[in-house]
Amino acid sequence: MYILLLVTGFELMAKTDNYLRHTSLSNHQLNLLFKYPVGLVKHFTIKGKGIVKHVYDIDGAALPKTQSISQYKAKGIQAFRIAQYNKQTLRIVIEAKVSMKGNYKITGRKLALFLPFSTTPTLKQTVAQKKIVKKKVLQSYGFNPNRKYRTIVLDAGHGGRDVGASSKKVREKDLTLSMTLKLKNILQKMGYRVLLTRDRDKFMNLKQRTDYVYNRKGSIFVSIHANAAPKKRTKGVRYEGLEVFYLGLRNTKRVRNKRAVYRGRKVYSKSAYKEMVSSWKFSQSRSLAKTVKKNILSHVSRQYKIYDKGIKRKDFWVLLATKMPAILIETGYLTNKNEVKKLTNPHYQTVLMEGVARGINNYYGLY
Ligand SMILES: [Zn+2]
Repeated sequence: MYILLLVTGFELMAKTDNYLRHTSLSNHQLNLLFKYPVGLVKHFTIKGKGIVKHVYDIDGAALPKTQSISQYKAKGIQAFRIAQYNKQTLRIVIEAKVSMKGNYKITGRKLALFLPFSTTPTLKQTVAQKKIVKKKVLQSYGFNPNRKYRTIVLDAGHGGRDVGASSKKVREKDLTLSMTLKLKNILQKMGYRVLLTRDRDKFMNLKQRTDYVYNRKGSIFVSIHANAAPKKRTKGVRYEGLEVFYLGLRNTKRVRNKRAVYRGRKVYSKSAYKEMVSSWKFSQSRSLAKTVKKNILSHVSRQYKIYDKGIKRKDFWVLLATKMPAILIETGYLTNKNEVKKLTNPHYQTVLMEGVARGINNYYGLY
């Protein structure tokens, strides 16, 4: 009866293309490999007669369109099921006949589900280990209680059906989310308050993003993106490196009669628009852009090569329709072989985001 049956097939058209690529079972651990990094996983249990059903809902994941059947044996497991739960969610159900913690681990594209008799640490041990790590990180980032009066609004570019720029294996929306979540953790450990326009793979249009920011009392706005070279490349232009943008309104269609214009319609009030283009906002945004860029370059270049494409000005909607100092960071080009290697490296992402956080400390003079 120790048979684990894995049926991959699809009953529902998924809205995502983060397909399950490969499964394997080893050391009482079920490994699932996806096409792209795994996002949010929700785990819960349902008690039945003599068994406990462990349910894992994987956000933004899908079954491949081809069908195949794999059979595994696992001690203590009655059955295993996998199905497209809805267009956004892949559901895995494991029926356990013996006690099972339901622990799992996400490492990039890999999701490991720990079955009974696995040699992984128990939940208690995991929590204890996490606490130690937290302490270490707290020390290394340096906590300052005065930072709690500053609210940093982070915006992970793109999401959901808006993939953003992409190369063969990498999508901008995944990178921006991964980097933004890292930045959020760093800033919170430093003592800042942090708000996110999105914390998972979710579609948001640009106005939905600024609507989110509109009535919240954020101190500064930071949007994270990655770039791609255009199909028609201009000779002599280097499509590599870091660019930091703040608002520029030359030749813009975003403004009409002193109001912000979104898709041809005037949105937000006149008084709000005044704040969106105040000279205070321009000078603060410029200063924030400069100090963030400087800190990224100095911090990252101690460990990695990084090319400086400079400070740019543009009428990006999120830079216009926010009342607080606002910048948009183009972290690098997915179309550049060396750069995409770095951008997909979790350590590089962390170092890059540490640079942003240092820039924010510098901007506020909070050390
Ligand atoms: Zn983008």
